[in-house]
Amino acid sequence: MSGLWIEVDLDAVKFNYGQVVSRLSPGSRCMAVVKADAYGLGAPEVARALEQAGCEAFAVTSVAEGIVLRENGIQGLILVLGPSDPQEWPAAVRAGLSLTIAAAAAITELEKISAVSGREAFVHLKLESGMGRTGLWPEDIAPTARALTEAAWVQASGIYTHFSRAAQRDERYTRKQYEKFCQGVAQFAALGIEPAWRHVCNSAAFLDYPAWHHDFVRIGTLLIGHYPQPAFRPFLPLKDPWRAKSRIQYVRQAPKGTCVGYQSLYKTRRDTELAVIFAGYADGFGVEPHMTPQGFFDLCKVVLKNIAACCGVFLGREKVTLKGRAIRVAGKIGMQLTVLDVGVGTCQVGDEVEVPLRRTLANPRLPRKYWEDGRRIGERRLREEFYPAEPERSDAEGEETGR
Ligand SMILES: *Cc1c(COP(=O)(O)O)cnc(C)c1O
Repeated sequence: MSGLWIEVDLDAVKFNYGQVVSRLSPGSRCMAVVKADAYGLGAPEVARALEQAGCEAFAVTSVAEGIVLRENGIQGLILVLGPSDPQEWPAAVRAGLSLTIAAAAAITELEKISAVSGREAFVHLKLESGMGRTGLWPEDIAPTARALTEAAWVQASGIYTHFSRAAQRDERYTRKQYEKFCQGVAQFAALGIEPAWRHVCNSAAFLDYPAWHHDFVRIGTLLIGHYPQPAFRPFLPLKDPWRAKSRIQYVRQAPKGTCVGYQSLYKTRRDTELAVIFAGYADGFGVEPHMTPQGFFDLCKVVLKNIAACCGVFLGREKVTLKGRAIRVAGKIGMQLTVLDVGVGTCQVGDEVEVPLRRTLANPRLPRKYWEDGRRIGERRLREEFYPAEPERSDAEGEETGR
Protein backbone atom coordinates (compact mmCIF):
# COMPACT_ATOMS: atom_id res chain seq x y z
CA MET A 1 0.00 0.00 0.00
CA SER A 2 1.76 3.13 -1.16
CA GLY A 3 1.47 6.23 0.99
CA LEU A 4 0.84 8.80 -1.69
CA TRP A 5 0.13 8.47 -5.37
CA ILE A 6 -1.11 10.54 -8.24
CA GLU A 7 -4.03 9.79 -10.54
CA VAL A 8 -3.85 11.38 -13.97
CA ASP A 9 -7.00 11.49 -16.09
CA LEU A 10 -5.88 11.55 -19.73
CA ASP A 11 -9.48 12.12 -20.86
CA ALA A 12 -9.35 15.47 -19.06
CA VAL A 13 -6.08 16.33 -20.85
CA LYS A 14 -7.70 15.50 -24.19
CA PHE A 15 -10.74 17.57 -23.23
CA ASN A 16 -8.49 20.55 -22.50
CA TYR A 17 -6.69 20.04 -25.81
CA GLY A 18 -10.07 20.10 -27.57
CA GLN A 19 -10.91 23.37 -25.82
CA VAL A 20 -7.64 24.94 -26.98
CA VAL A 21 -8.12 23.70 -30.56
CA SER A 22 -11.66 25.14 -30.64
CA ARG A 23 -10.20 28.61 -29.93
CA LEU A 24 -7.36 28.48 -32.48
CA SER A 25 -7.30 31.13 -35.18
CA PRO A 26 -7.50 29.69 -38.72
CA GLY A 27 -4.20 28.22 -39.92
CA SER A 28 -2.73 27.76 -36.44
CA ARG A 29 -2.00 24.51 -34.62
CA CYS A 30 -1.38 23.63 -30.99
CA MET A 31 2.16 22.69 -30.01
CA ALA A 32 1.78 20.86 -26.70
CA VAL A 33 4.46 21.91 -24.22
CA VAL A 34 5.24 18.77 -22.23
CA LYS A 35 8.43 19.97 -20.54
CA ALA A 36 9.24 18.99 -16.94
CA ASP A 37 7.58 15.61 -17.49
CA ALA A 38 4.43 17.35 -18.74
CA TYR A 39 4.37 19.62 -15.68
CA GLY A 40 4.54 16.52 -13.48
CA LEU A 41 1.74 14.56 -15.20
CA GLY A 42 4.06 12.31 -17.23
CA ALA A 43 5.37 13.44 -20.63
CA PRO A 44 5.19 10.16 -22.62
CA GLU A 45 1.66 9.39 -21.42
CA VAL A 46 0.35 12.92 -21.98
CA ALA A 47 2.05 13.24 -25.39
CA ARG A 48 0.71 9.86 -26.54
CA ALA A 49 -2.84 10.77 -25.51
CA LEU A 50 -2.56 14.13 -27.26
CA GLU A 51 -1.10 12.59 -30.42
CA GLN A 52 -4.14 10.29 -30.48
CA ALA A 53 -6.32 13.37 -30.16
CA GLY A 54 -4.64 14.85 -33.26
CA CYS A 55 -1.79 16.90 -31.82
CA GLU A 56 1.11 17.10 -34.28
CA ALA A 57 3.75 19.06 -32.38
CA PHE A 58 5.36 18.94 -28.96
CA ALA A 59 7.88 21.04 -27.07
CA VAL A 60 10.29 20.12 -24.27
CA THR A 61 13.16 21.91 -22.57
CA SER A 62 16.02 19.44 -23.03
CA VAL A 63 17.30 16.98 -25.62
CA ALA A 64 16.98 14.18 -23.04
CA GLU A 65 13.26 14.92 -22.68
CA GLY A 66 12.82 14.91 -26.46
CA ILE A 67 14.56 11.57 -26.85
CA VAL A 68 12.30 10.02 -24.20
CA LEU A 69 9.29 11.10 -26.28
CA ARG A 70 10.72 9.53 -29.46
CA GLU A 71 11.57 6.33 -27.59
CA ASN A 72 7.94 6.23 -26.52
CA GLY A 73 6.75 6.36 -30.10
CA ILE A 74 5.87 10.03 -30.48
CA GLN A 75 5.96 10.76 -34.22
CA GLY A 76 5.19 14.47 -34.40
CA LEU A 77 7.45 17.49 -34.40
CA ILE A 78 9.46 17.74 -31.19
CA LEU A 79 11.02 21.11 -30.49
CA VAL A 80 13.72 21.47 -27.83
CA LEU A 81 13.12 24.93 -26.35
CA GLY A 82 16.09 25.22 -24.05
CA PRO A 83 19.75 25.68 -24.78
CA SER A 84 21.46 22.34 -25.33
CA ASP A 85 24.97 20.97 -25.29
CA PRO A 86 26.67 20.21 -28.65
CA GLN A 87 27.58 16.81 -27.16
CA GLU A 88 23.86 15.97 -27.25
CA TRP A 89 23.31 17.09 -30.82
CA PRO A 90 24.29 13.89 -32.69
CA ALA A 91 21.64 12.01 -30.70
CA ALA A 92 19.17 14.86 -31.21
CA VAL A 93 19.70 14.81 -34.99
CA ARG A 94 19.34 11.00 -35.04
CA ALA A 95 16.07 11.26 -33.13
CA GLY A 96 14.83 13.93 -35.53
CA LEU A 97 14.38 16.56 -32.82
CA SER A 98 14.19 20.23 -33.81
CA LEU A 99 16.70 22.31 -31.88
CA THR A 100 16.40 25.93 -30.82
CA ILE A 101 19.10 28.24 -32.11
CA ALA A 102 20.06 31.13 -29.85
CA ALA A 103 23.58 31.84 -31.18
CA ALA A 104 25.12 32.02 -34.67
CA ALA A 105 28.00 29.71 -33.72
CA ALA A 106 25.52 26.91 -33.04
CA ILE A 107 24.65 26.71 -36.75
CA THR A 108 28.26 26.07 -37.78
CA GLU A 109 28.66 23.41 -35.09
CA LEU A 110 25.38 21.71 -35.98
CA GLU A 111 26.26 21.79 -39.69
CA LYS A 112 29.39 19.67 -38.98
CA ILE A 113 27.40 17.17 -36.92
CA SER A 114 24.57 16.87 -39.48
CA ALA A 115 27.02 16.46 -42.38
CA VAL A 116 28.75 13.59 -40.55
CA SER A 117 25.47 11.84 -39.78
CA GLY A 118 24.10 12.56 -43.26
CA ARG A 119 20.82 13.79 -41.80
CA GLU A 120 19.33 17.21 -42.18
CA ALA A 121 18.87 19.15 -38.95
CA PHE A 122 15.76 21.28 -38.49
CA VAL A 123 16.01 24.26 -36.20
CA HIS A 124 13.82 27.04 -34.85
CA LEU A 125 15.36 30.49 -34.41
CA LYS A 126 14.61 31.99 -31.01
CA LEU A 127 14.51 35.77 -30.89
CA GLU A 128 15.23 37.55 -27.62
CA SER A 129 12.53 40.19 -27.22
CA GLY A 130 12.32 41.00 -23.52
CA MET A 131 12.56 37.80 -21.48
CA GLY A 132 16.30 38.34 -21.04
CA ARG A 133 17.00 34.63 -20.99
CA THR A 134 18.06 32.93 -24.20
CA GLY A 135 17.67 34.03 -27.79
CA LEU A 136 19.18 35.97 -30.65
CA TRP A 137 19.71 39.67 -29.99
CA PRO A 138 19.41 42.07 -32.95
CA GLU A 139 23.18 42.05 -33.47
CA ASP A 140 23.18 38.22 -33.71
CA ILE A 141 20.77 38.18 -36.64
CA ALA A 142 23.18 38.99 -39.50
CA PRO A 143 25.83 36.41 -38.49
CA THR A 144 23.12 33.78 -37.90
CA ALA A 145 21.57 34.44 -41.31
CA ARG A 146 25.03 34.19 -42.90
CA ALA A 147 25.77 30.88 -41.17
CA LEU A 148 22.39 29.52 -42.28
CA THR A 149 22.98 30.56 -45.89
CA GLU A 150 26.32 28.74 -45.87
CA ALA A 151 24.95 25.62 -44.16
CA ALA A 152 23.82 22.78 -46.41
CA TRP A 153 22.51 20.48 -43.69
CA VAL A 154 20.76 22.91 -41.36
CA GLN A 155 17.27 24.16 -42.21
CA ALA A 156 15.47 26.89 -40.26
CA SER A 157 11.87 25.71 -40.19
CA GLY A 158 10.64 27.98 -37.43
CA ILE A 159 11.15 31.35 -35.75
CA TYR A 160 9.76 32.28 -32.35
CA THR A 161 9.95 34.29 -29.17
CA HIS A 162 8.62 33.96 -25.62
CA PHE A 163 6.61 36.52 -23.61
CA SER A 164 7.58 37.30 -20.03
CA ARG A 165 4.55 39.27 -18.86
CA ALA A 166 1.63 37.77 -20.79
CA ALA A 167 0.21 36.06 -17.69
CA GLN A 168 0.27 39.42 -15.86
CA ARG A 169 -1.58 40.85 -18.87
CA ASP A 170 0.95 43.65 -19.24
CA GLU A 171 -0.23 44.65 -22.68
CA ARG A 172 2.30 47.42 -23.27
CA TYR A 173 5.28 45.22 -22.55
CA THR A 174 3.85 42.27 -24.46
CA ARG A 175 3.14 44.41 -27.54
CA LYS A 176 6.69 45.76 -27.38
CA GLN A 177 7.99 42.19 -27.33
CA TYR A 178 5.78 41.32 -30.29
CA GLU A 179 7.07 44.34 -32.25
CA LYS A 180 10.66 43.28 -31.60
CA PHE A 181 9.79 39.79 -32.80
CA CYS A 182 8.29 41.18 -36.03
CA GLN A 183 11.37 43.33 -36.59
CA GLY A 184 13.60 40.27 -36.16
CA VAL A 185 11.50 38.27 -38.61
CA ALA A 186 11.76 41.11 -41.14
CA GLN A 187 15.53 41.39 -40.64
CA PHE A 188 15.95 37.68 -41.30
CA ALA A 189 13.67 37.88 -44.36
CA ALA A 190 15.74 40.74 -45.77
CA LEU A 191 18.76 38.45 -45.49
CA GLY A 192 16.96 35.65 -47.32
CA ILE A 193 15.97 33.56 -44.29
CA GLU A 194 12.21 32.96 -44.13
CA PRO A 195 11.29 30.05 -41.87
CA ALA A 196 7.91 28.51 -42.69
CA TRP A 197 6.53 28.66 -39.15
CA ARG A 198 6.17 31.49 -36.64
CA HIS A 199 5.04 31.05 -33.07
CA VAL A 200 4.89 33.44 -30.12
CA CYS A 201 1.92 32.57 -27.87
CA ASN A 202 2.05 30.74 -24.56
CA SER A 203 -1.22 29.96 -22.73
CA ALA A 204 -1.89 33.53 -21.59
CA ALA A 205 -1.06 35.17 -24.93
CA PHE A 206 -3.09 32.52 -26.76
CA LEU A 207 -6.19 33.66 -24.87
CA ASP A 208 -5.51 37.40 -25.08
CA TYR A 209 -4.09 37.82 -28.61
CA PRO A 210 -5.90 35.65 -31.18
CA ALA A 211 -4.32 37.74 -33.97
CA TRP A 212 -0.89 36.41 -32.94
CA HIS A 213 -1.62 32.68 -33.18
CA HIS A 214 0.39 32.41 -36.42
CA ASP A 215 1.40 28.81 -37.29
CA PHE A 216 1.60 27.38 -33.78
CA VAL A 217 0.66 28.32 -30.26
CA ARG A 218 2.79 26.73 -27.51
CA ILE A 219 0.45 25.55 -24.77
CA GLY A 220 1.37 23.88 -21.50
CA THR A 221 -0.59 25.34 -18.58
CA LEU A 222 -4.05 25.11 -20.17
CA LEU A 223 -3.56 21.48 -21.22
CA ILE A 224 -2.91 20.40 -17.65
CA GLY A 225 -6.09 22.15 -16.55
CA HIS A 226 -4.62 25.30 -15.04
CA TYR A 227 -5.14 28.96 -15.88
CA PRO A 228 -2.15 31.34 -16.12
CA GLN A 229 -4.06 33.30 -13.46
CA PRO A 230 -7.65 33.17 -12.15
CA ALA A 231 -8.78 36.07 -14.38
CA PHE A 232 -8.52 33.73 -17.39
CA ARG A 233 -11.04 31.28 -15.94
CA PRO A 234 -14.09 32.65 -17.84
CA PHE A 235 -12.29 32.27 -21.21
CA LEU A 236 -12.70 28.53 -21.55
CA PRO A 237 -13.78 25.58 -19.42
CA LEU A 238 -11.01 23.16 -18.44
CA LYS A 239 -10.93 19.88 -16.56
CA ASP A 240 -8.38 19.07 -13.89
CA PRO A 241 -6.62 15.82 -14.80
CA TRP A 242 -4.66 15.61 -11.54
CA ARG A 243 -5.51 14.05 -8.19
CA ALA A 244 -2.95 13.31 -5.48
CA LYS A 245 -4.28 10.70 -3.09
CA SER A 246 -3.27 9.03 0.12
CA ARG A 247 -4.79 6.69 2.67
CA ILE A 248 -5.27 7.06 6.37
CA GLN A 249 -2.64 4.90 8.05
CA TYR A 250 -3.46 5.44 11.70
CA VAL A 251 -6.29 6.96 13.74
CA ARG A 252 -6.27 7.73 17.42
CA GLN A 253 -8.65 9.44 19.85
CA ALA A 254 -7.17 12.59 21.34
CA PRO A 255 -8.58 14.67 24.20
CA LYS A 256 -8.96 18.45 24.03
CA GLY A 257 -5.58 20.16 24.47
CA THR A 258 -3.42 17.52 22.76
CA CYS A 259 -0.28 19.04 21.21
CA VAL A 260 0.44 17.94 17.65
CA GLY A 261 3.63 17.89 15.61
CA TYR A 262 6.96 19.68 15.72
CA GLN A 263 7.03 22.81 17.86
CA SER A 264 3.52 21.86 19.09
CA LEU A 265 2.13 24.46 16.71
CA TYR A 266 -1.30 22.83 16.92
CA LYS A 267 -3.40 22.05 19.97
CA THR A 268 -6.76 20.28 19.70
CA ARG A 269 -9.64 22.54 20.75
CA ARG A 270 -12.05 19.70 21.56
CA ASP A 271 -12.06 15.94 22.04
CA THR A 272 -11.36 14.62 18.59
CA GLU A 273 -9.55 12.00 16.55
CA LEU A 274 -6.19 12.51 14.92
CA ALA A 275 -5.42 10.67 11.68
CA VAL A 276 -1.99 10.21 10.12
CA ILE A 277 -1.22 9.99 6.39
CA PHE A 278 2.06 9.12 4.70
CA ALA A 279 2.56 12.43 2.91
CA GLY A 280 4.93 15.25 3.69
CA TYR A 281 7.21 17.88 2.32
CA ALA A 282 9.58 15.22 0.93
CA ASP A 283 6.72 14.48 -1.49
CA GLY A 284 6.23 18.17 -2.24
CA PHE A 285 3.24 18.53 0.10
CA GLY A 286 3.09 22.01 1.62
CA VAL A 287 6.12 23.13 -0.41
CA GLU A 288 5.52 26.45 -2.15
CA PRO A 289 7.71 28.14 -4.75
CA HIS A 290 8.99 31.60 -3.90
CA MET A 291 6.42 34.12 -5.10
CA THR A 292 6.98 37.79 -5.77
CA PRO A 293 3.87 39.70 -4.70
CA GLN A 294 2.07 41.16 -7.71
CA GLY A 295 0.89 44.56 -6.56
CA PHE A 296 0.19 46.21 -3.22
CA PHE A 297 -2.83 44.07 -2.27
CA ASP A 298 -0.83 40.92 -2.82
CA LEU A 299 2.01 42.29 -0.69
CA CYS A 300 -0.41 42.98 2.19
CA LYS A 301 -1.66 39.39 1.98
CA VAL A 302 1.88 38.01 2.16
CA VAL A 303 2.80 40.25 5.12
CA LEU A 304 -0.42 39.38 7.03
CA LYS A 305 0.05 35.68 6.40
CA ASN A 306 3.57 35.81 7.81
CA ILE A 307 2.59 37.84 10.87
CA ALA A 308 -0.25 35.40 11.58
CA ALA A 309 2.11 32.43 11.16
CA CYS A 310 4.43 33.95 13.80
CA CYS A 311 1.42 33.88 16.17
CA GLY A 312 0.76 30.22 15.33
CA VAL A 313 -2.24 30.94 13.08
CA PHE A 314 -1.87 29.54 9.58
CA LEU A 315 -4.05 31.36 7.08
CA GLY A 316 -4.99 29.66 3.84
CA ARG A 317 -3.12 26.54 4.78
CA GLU A 318 -3.51 23.18 3.11
CA LYS A 319 -6.71 21.25 3.54
CA VAL A 320 -6.98 17.58 2.78
CA THR A 321 -10.27 16.24 1.42
CA LEU A 322 -11.85 13.22 3.11
CA LYS A 323 -15.13 11.88 1.68
CA GLY A 324 -15.78 15.27 0.07
CA ARG A 325 -15.13 17.16 3.32
CA ALA A 326 -12.22 19.59 3.80
CA ILE A 327 -10.08 18.48 6.76
CA ARG A 328 -7.60 20.65 8.60
CA VAL A 329 -3.96 19.72 8.65
CA ALA A 330 -2.99 19.67 12.32
CA GLY A 331 0.37 21.32 12.98
CA LYS A 332 3.44 21.29 10.82
CA ILE A 333 3.60 19.03 7.81
CA GLY A 334 6.42 16.56 8.49
CA MET A 335 9.00 15.14 6.13
CA GLN A 336 6.82 12.13 5.25
CA LEU A 337 3.96 12.24 7.77
CA THR A 338 1.05 14.62 8.21
CA VAL A 339 -1.56 14.69 10.98
CA LEU A 340 -5.21 15.54 10.32
CA ASP A 341 -7.78 16.66 12.87
CA VAL A 342 -10.69 14.57 11.58
CA GLY A 343 -13.28 14.87 14.38
CA VAL A 344 -14.97 11.95 16.11
CA GLY A 345 -16.03 8.86 14.19
CA THR A 346 -15.53 10.17 10.66
CA CYS A 347 -12.99 7.77 9.23
CA GLN A 348 -11.01 4.61 9.62
CA VAL A 349 -7.65 3.24 8.58
CA GLY A 350 -7.54 2.68 4.82
CA ASP A 351 -9.89 5.55 3.89
CA GLU A 352 -8.74 7.59 0.90
CA VAL A 353 -7.98 11.27 1.16
CA GLU A 354 -7.14 13.79 -1.53
CA VAL A 355 -4.03 15.87 -0.91
CA PRO A 356 -3.39 19.26 -2.55
CA LEU A 357 -0.02 18.92 -4.25
CA ARG A 358 1.50 21.35 -6.73
CA ARG A 359 2.04 19.42 -9.94
CA THR A 360 5.54 20.58 -10.74
CA LEU A 361 6.68 20.20 -7.14
CA ALA A 362 5.33 16.68 -6.65
CA ASN A 363 8.22 14.32 -6.10
CA PRO A 364 8.88 12.40 -9.34
CA ARG A 365 9.25 9.21 -7.26
CA LEU A 366 5.53 9.23 -6.54
CA PRO A 367 3.74 6.62 -8.62
CA ARG A 368 1.39 7.94 -11.32
CA LYS A 369 -1.75 5.96 -12.12
CA TYR A 370 -3.35 6.69 -15.47
CA TRP A 371 -7.00 6.74 -16.47
CA GLU A 372 -8.31 6.88 -20.01
CA ASP A 373 -11.74 6.21 -21.54
CA GLY A 374 -13.02 6.20 -17.99
CA ARG A 375 -10.88 3.30 -16.80
CA ARG A 376 -7.50 2.64 -15.25
CA ILE A 377 -4.91 1.97 -17.98
CA GLY A 378 -1.60 1.67 -16.19
CA GLU A 379 0.84 2.86 -13.63
CA ARG A 380 4.27 4.34 -13.87
CA ARG A 381 7.11 4.65 -11.41
CA LEU A 382 10.15 6.92 -11.66
CA ARG A 383 11.75 7.03 -15.10
CA GLU A 384 15.49 7.26 -14.66
CA GLU A 385 15.90 8.67 -18.17
CA PHE A 386 14.25 11.91 -17.10
CA TYR A 387 16.95 12.44 -14.55
CA PRO A 388 20.02 11.35 -16.50
CA ALA A 389 23.34 11.23 -14.78
CA GLU A 390 25.72 14.00 -15.84
CA PRO A 391 27.59 12.64 -18.89
CA GLU A 392 31.16 11.83 -17.93
CA ARG A 393 33.82 13.88 -19.62
CA SER A 394 37.46 13.03 -19.69
CA ASP A 395 39.89 15.92 -19.17
CA ALA A 396 41.16 15.60 -22.73
CA GLU A 397 37.65 16.02 -24.08
CA GLY A 398 37.15 19.02 -21.84
CA GLU A 399 40.20 20.72 -23.36
CA GLU A 400 39.09 19.96 -26.87
CA THR A 401 35.76 21.74 -26.46
CA GLY A 402 37.38 24.53 -24.49
CA ARG A 403 35.47 23.86 -21.28
C1 LIG B 1 6.85 26.76 -20.87
C2 LIG B 1 6.84 27.42 -22.17
C3 LIG B 1 5.64 27.57 -22.87
C4 LIG B 1 4.29 27.16 -22.32
O1 LIG B 1 3.81 28.13 -21.46
P1 LIG B 1 2.41 27.96 -20.72
O2 LIG B 1 2.12 29.30 -20.19
O3 LIG B 1 2.60 26.92 -19.68
O4 LIG B 1 1.43 27.54 -21.75
C5 LIG B 1 5.71 28.15 -24.13
N1 LIG B 1 6.88 28.54 -24.66
C6 LIG B 1 8.05 28.42 -24.01
C7 LIG B 1 9.31 28.89 -24.65
C8 LIG B 1 8.07 27.86 -22.75
O5 LIG B 1 9.23 27.74 -22.08
